[in-house]
Amino acid sequence: MCDDNTVVPVQDDPRTEELESRLNVEPQKPLSEAQFRKLRNLYFTVRHTLVKECGHKIDMINEPRHRNCEFCYWTWLSAHGELVQVADRALQEQGKAFLIKMRGRHFYEMFVRYMSTLARFKKEQDDKETGIAGEENRTIESAGGSRNDVPREGAG
Ligand SMILES: [Zn+2]
Repeated sequence: MCDDNTVVPVQDDPRTEELESRLNVEPQKPLSEAQFRKLRNLYFTVRHTLVKECGHKIDMINEPRHRNCEFCYWTWLSAHGELVQVADRALQEQGKAFLIKMRGRHFYEMFVRYMSTLARFKKEQDDKETGIAGEENRTIESAGGSRNDVPREGAG
């Protein structure tokens, strides 16, 4: 007998135990009526959003019905990051005519407006971060602001 038949005992691995305990969690109880209602509300609010800036209701899946409403399109495009990315790439790689052919002239115009507004927001934020805008804002504020004097504490 030259076979070494000693059985190596399986060591208790703490990681295995942890996994087991995680897997053995009790199955989730069915939703209560209140939870269900909350989720249903959430679902429908996501599907149909009220744009508070203009008071229009938009369908989050289809393009806004208020074709010329900036706010509707802004909200709608903001919620469609993937579409925006694809449209942006199409515009860069295939050009304006291609995007118009795919999504229509109206979409194209609203999209371009959205992108330029977005770029402006980003620029503003960048400027703020570098402190350039901060300086400008301070100048404007001190020139036009006529705030009441707040008595300072600790003077004298
Ligand atoms: Zn609107």
